Amino acid sequence: MNRNNEDYRSPAVPALTKTLLEDVKKIFKTTSGTPFLIPTTGTGAWESALTNTLSPGDRIISFLIGQFSLLWIDQQQRLKFDVDVIESEWGRGANLDMLAMKLAADGAHTIKAICIVHNETATGVTNNLAAVRNLLDEYKHPALLLVDGVSSICALDFRMDEWGVDVALTGSQKALSLPTGMGIVCASPKALEASKTAKSLRVFFDWNDYLKFYKLGNYWPYTPSIQLLYGLRAALDLIFEEGLDNVIARHSRLGKATRLAVEAWGLKNCTQKEEWFSDTVTAVVVPPYIDSAEVVRRAWKRYNLSLGLGLNKVAGKVFRIGHLGNLNEDVSDVEVEVEDEAEWGVGEDGGEMIEGDVGGDAGGEVREKVKDRK
Ligand code: PLP
Repeated sequence: MNRNNEDYRSPAVPALTKTLLEDVKKIFKTTSGTPFLIPTTGTGAWESALTNTLSPGDRIISFLIGQFSLLWIDQQQRLKFDVDVIESEWGRGANLDMLAMKLAADGAHTIKAICIVHNETATGVTNNLAAVRNLLDEYKHPALLLVDGVSSICALDFRMDEWGVDVALTGSQKALSLPTGMGIVCASPKALEASKTAKSLRVFFDWNDYLKFYKLGNYWPYTPSIQLLYGLRAALDLIFEEGLDNVIARHSRLGKATRLAVEAWGLKNCTQKEEWFSDTVTAVVVPPYIDSAEVVRRAWKRYNLSLGLGLNKVAGKVFRIGHLGNLNEDVSDVEVEVEDEAEWGVGEDGGEMIEGDVGGDAGGEVREKVKDRK
């Protein structure tokens, strides 16, 4: 990404964009979807999904299970949709029994879309999208399925075509491990069809402007970030080199390892059932006499380690460990210089930690050494 700007109308940028649009479909597991690379964040990608497919007043079902689903619902309400909210306790997944009841009662097909966050980053809850699709099929319901895959796509099993997802979206800064600034939205043929009649006001996010330029072969209705495009190329190459399914398996392994660590600490996962455990983020509940924000602050100060705060309803109660993107198990490929093994708690094989031995600032210093070596 560390390169000069280029003229986006030069021949190189459309050629690069063409391959990106083809390749990005693979991370959504779609052959029929149409992707849009939009200079925005996840929030803009939400807006793009909603305004291109729906009209003000449309009834939509939206699951409230944590801070990000809450923010999406807020956007849906501000865009004047008639939002039918199905709420779950934070730490639980989408209430699909309630969805089944609403679908069963909607013979007139007043529900135009189901909006669901695949992985709720605030609580570490992953929803079962295949089950949502099965319900829509069971009730032969034509509602669009709009999915926030911000903290799932490219890290968790995600199958746009197989699960009949109509709009899927993510942001560059999550599993792609890029800087923030690109919203990646993928629309099914049914979603593109819906965009022809959707009356929501949209300008910057209008898919039609992109589609016009796709036809012309120069792809961009307005200026893209050249650096992010090259970054996306590199991120996709890394993912394909490892193999998308291996990337997903790596996240599953690291997710499980994180949960085992939390268990070993004697702490509780905020996610209440195994079926919802997230392989990209773990929200850890702290004992009531501890403020989780203090854990986050100390981790940062002592260990240069970035944990996530508890948000909104779970503020002070949980901290979050992110385990998504271009990360690995350990630093075993890096030689750690240890001055006094006993003091550091590093065993002969260089990997074994002796319980309780790395306390205070010691861990932070080990980390500093590893960082220096890198
Ligand atoms: N959706 C989910 C699941 C998220 O985790 C986030 C941000 O973390 C967003 C949406 C919003 O994305 P952004 O902050 O890029 O606008």
